[in-house]
Amino acid sequence: MGLGTTCIRGGYAPGNGEPRQIPIIQSTTFRYETSEDMGKLFDLEAEGYFYTRLQNPTCDFVAAKIAELEGGTAAMLTSSGQAANFFAVFNIATAGDHVVASNSIYGGTYNLFAVTMAKMGVEFTFVSPDCAPEELEAAFRPNTKAVFGETIANPALTVLDIEKFATAAHAHGVPLIVDNTFPTPINCRPFEWGADIVTHSTTKYLDGHSAALGGCIVDSGKFDWMAHASKFPGLTTPDESYHGITYAERFGNEGAFITKATAQLMRDFGCMASPQNAYLLNLGLESLHVRMRRHCENAQAIAEHLEAHPQVAWVEFPGLPSSRYHGLAQKYMPGGTCGVVSFGVKGGRAAAEKFMKGLKVAHIATHVADAATCCLHPASSTHRQMSDEELAAAGVPADMVRFSCGLEDAADLIADIDQALA
Ligand SMILES: *Cc1c(COP(=O)(O)O)cnc(C)c1O
Repeated sequence: MGLGTTCIRGGYAPGNGEPRQIPIIQSTTFRYETSEDMGKLFDLEAEGYFYTRLQNPTCDFVAAKIAELEGGTAAMLTSSGQAANFFAVFNIATAGDHVVASNSIYGGTYNLFAVTMAKMGVEFTFVSPDCAPEELEAAFRPNTKAVFGETIANPALTVLDIEKFATAAHAHGVPLIVDNTFPTPINCRPFEWGADIVTHSTTKYLDGHSAALGGCIVDSGKFDWMAHASKFPGLTTPDESYHGITYAERFGNEGAFITKATAQLMRDFGCMASPQNAYLLNLGLESLHVRMRRHCENAQAIAEHLEAHPQVAWVEFPGLPSSRYHGLAQKYMPGGTCGVVSFGVKGGRAAAEKFMKGLKVAHIATHVADAATCCLHPASSTHRQMSDEELAAAGVPADMVRFSCGLEDAADLIADIDQALA
């Protein structure tokens, strides 16, 4: 099936007379006839549900759809994108381990890695996504357990050279984890380029309506844990906290990663998606392929308009031929990139602040990837504690506006920008 068909039909196939929409199984627990029946579930010997903190059928229908969209073998939903990235890394890298990560990533993820996970004993080395292969090579250590990057980074809009990062990761016997939130599987399928694990903040385009916070982890099923058994004891030796199961033996390359993340991390941290939110996410997924096209068309039109505007200092959008990421975007996401455009208003911080005040259609919001256009001036909101010099060094200059193009008519968005610039 094509991706559009999978957006609607993936993950859940109703039988004769069954509901067309996925049922919301709003139940924390599930009933069994005998203790023996339930014991088999706890031993992971039989499939079934026992407690929604670990697994819920509604969430699993939706996770299965996202797995199909990405071309993976297994997936799980989480309560947020933050939880998805935390689980994806912590599932294989714990105290004493090391991870190589792109330095062009979402601020929340950077903080999770550089501050919170560092306190847990996981060390990160950050490299530029544009680094030379030798520089990437030099970042690895004997205790490196994973490589992490974002396909299109939020908010810098850098495009990851997935093959370059996958080649380096595999040369060191570790998987490449890629956050594919911005392009979505409609525009980019990282597994086809060598990525092993994909994560999402489903809060963004997958939901697409500012309705439900959520995350997802998808496994390609291609990474051979047993071939690098000494690096990944959590997957290749018995889990004494789970009845002595060895995940890679029992569930193979196709299922080990997600089963471990569910049985261990979800059990212990409980960052579970609610069935209600999974239902809302699925409504978003049913139109993802149609919406992404429109988000990208609007962003292309707006980026081109901004580039020609005399009051605009610079524009960054990987869909523009002038972008230094245009080549990588053409390779990894030829059908379109995302709906987010960054630009600088001539006149610096004060001019950008004035521009924001003038907007009438675009919402001012700390959000992206919504049906409604939203706009942020980092220097006067999320990054307001930083000086102009610090902002420039962080790649978030004081004149920068992040414009997330929604699904409105492009002409209305362009008219709104023009009158605000005027
Ligand atoms: C928003 C975002 C996250 C965090 O997701 P939440 O759902 O807000 O927890 C992670 N990665 C990227 C690329 C994001 O844009």
